[in-house]
Amino acid sequence: METCPDCNRQLEASWKFCIHCGAALRSTHTPMSAALAGQADAPPMVPLGGNRYSQALIVGGAAILCLGVTLLILTLVLLRGGFA
Ligand SMILES: [Zn+2]
Repeated sequence: METCPDCNRQLEASWKFCIHCGAALRSTHTPMSAALAGQADAPPMVPLGGNRYSQALIVGGAAILCLGVTLLILTLVLLRGGFA
């Protein structure tokens, strides 16, 4: 009997994969984990870029909103006879 490196359950020595958690066993385990880790690291870069783009849009929108509110206040003050 062998033990799964991921979930520590008992496995048959002839099995290549753990039937409990799907982990690859023996020498194939490390390269597959490294490959999966590399693949897992790559995708988050795209959502991060999307988040940064969204944040830029939100900041830009907030700045435009503040500018609009400021212009509105200035217009109202001027319509009521100016600052004096
Ligand atoms: Zn397992």
